[in-house]
Amino acid sequence: MATTAQEKSPYPTPYPAPDDPPLEKKMFIGGEWVESASGERFDVYSPGDGSRIGSVPKGTKEDVQKAIEAAKKAHKAMASLSIPARAKLLYRASEISASRLEHDARVLCRECGKTITEARDEIGSYSNPHFIEAAEGIKRYRGKINPSIQEDTLNKRILVMRQPMGVIGVISPWNWPHDIPNIAWTHALAAGNAVIVKPASTTPFSALMLAEIYEEAGFPPGAVNVVTGPGSTVGSELVSNPGTNAIHFTGETTTGEYLTQIAGIKRLMLELGGNGPLVVWEDANIEEAVEATIVGCFYLAGQVCTASERILVHEAVHDEYVEKLVKRAKKVKVGNPLDEGTDMGPLNNPANVAKVQSHYDDARERGGRFLMGGNIDGMYSDVTIVDGVTSDFLMARDETFGPVAPIMTFKDMDECLRIANETPYGLQGAAFTSDLRTAFLLGEGIECGTVLINETNNCWDQLSPFGGIKKSGLGRELSDWCFDELTEIKQLNIDISKVRR
Ligand code: NDP
Repeated sequence: MATTAQEKSPYPTPYPAPDDPPLEKKMFIGGEWVESASGERFDVYSPGDGSRIGSVPKGTKEDVQKAIEAAKKAHKAMASLSIPARAKLLYRASEISASRLEHDARVLCRECGKTITEARDEIGSYSNPHFIEAAEGIKRYRGKINPSIQEDTLNKRILVMRQPMGVIGVISPWNWPHDIPNIAWTHALAAGNAVIVKPASTTPFSALMLAEIYEEAGFPPGAVNVVTGPGSTVGSELVSNPGTNAIHFTGETTTGEYLTQIAGIKRLMLELGGNGPLVVWEDANIEEAVEATIVGCFYLAGQVCTASERILVHEAVHDEYVEKLVKRAKKVKVGNPLDEGTDMGPLNNPANVAKVQSHYDDARERGGRFLMGGNIDGMYSDVTIVDGVTSDFLMARDETFGPVAPIMTFKDMDECLRIANETPYGLQGAAFTSDLRTAFLLGEGIECGTVLINETNNCWDQLSPFGGIKKSGLGRELSDWCFDELTEIKQLNIDISKVRR
């Protein structure tokens, strides 16, 4: 008999609970909806209004092992499907996902705390397109024919082909609980692998809803599995078990560092934390830079790996930029994420609240000038702007993951690049300038996997490589780069003089 903890809400209840029916979902292993081996379940609450959303099984290592066995068998079924057959399943999944977008966005909004508009955006603009892009991409994903350097080159044919890896483990965070697992999921399936997803414990429903979509689309049993439960047991078993051939992990840098120690010899894709600079050069279009800052710092209450975590402003335009930013930021409406008019919802979980609060406290102690905000009430932080930030502030050194624009000033290129790069992270940087030479110097000089010129940090192109350098990650995802990570290179070396025609 399954047991549910039924604890009191860990969050305050500033808004009335919606009357949505509770979601009491099971996990998906080997094509079946099942309870955990222990029979235990845990409750999931909305950070926006404190309401109980429902419960899911508290998976165990044994459940992961069952999922791995199911996935190993399903991998053979997936690999033997033709590419058009795999693509057809993904097209079908895309149609199903589109048909339930409004329902799924509402659940996502409640579990994550992002606004209903952001939730629709995550599913409609980011996650759903992966089905089609993976289906189309795999049809155009190419191998090579290599020249030989051996004496008898006329008889040699060397084919370099890509084969599926087998079982892919996916561990995802709470800030993009639909889009992020679905990047790896769609591309891994398109390439002929089987997948096991372990979603973040505060947002397990989005992955389970995706599993419903894949099941209805008709993927072979075991090709798609979701095991809910704690990272420390379910997640670590998925990574350390020799039965998984590759891991796609998205989360904090410290967690990623730990996973490198327990993974053994297998491929790791690590999408980790960021501390991205947004540079406002003296010749920038200030209005556009201000809009980019609003999206970069306050989208999803700043809880995005690519967020603008440090705003570097040329001293010549500091006053104009700051005045315009404060005026614009006052229009950002913080409130119940389920309300259509809300621009910014709550922080997702108490640990993140504590981290953001510690960054505000540190900034106060170091003499930062709070031009706006700086307070947290329950799960909700103010829209916050701090001027006079220097490199020793916590919010300059570390990822805040909250709705704050820390303003730092510089006087020339050397100082700008020194500040931009004095961080262990290197995910996304952005810069505003109208000069091509400056654009190149900043684009080449900022140490990040992507540098965006005249665009917000919170921008990623679905057909281009995404990923970080330094402590922001390993590997690249999206489009062909995702297939590169989720397939093995196979060399087929044939001496045609010794085979019959
Ligand atoms: P965490 O690292 O805390 O958790 C991420 C996932 O890892 C969760 O599913 C979690 O499970 C699981 N996990 C936790 N501990 C372990 C463990 N010991 N072994 C295996 N799995 C484990 O990150 P957050 O969820 O807090 O996500 C926020 C972070 O993610 C930020 O640093 C952000 O920058 C980064 N991120 C990076 C992105 C990128 O593309 N570079 C994109 C989005 C976010 P559980 O929830 O059960 O603890």
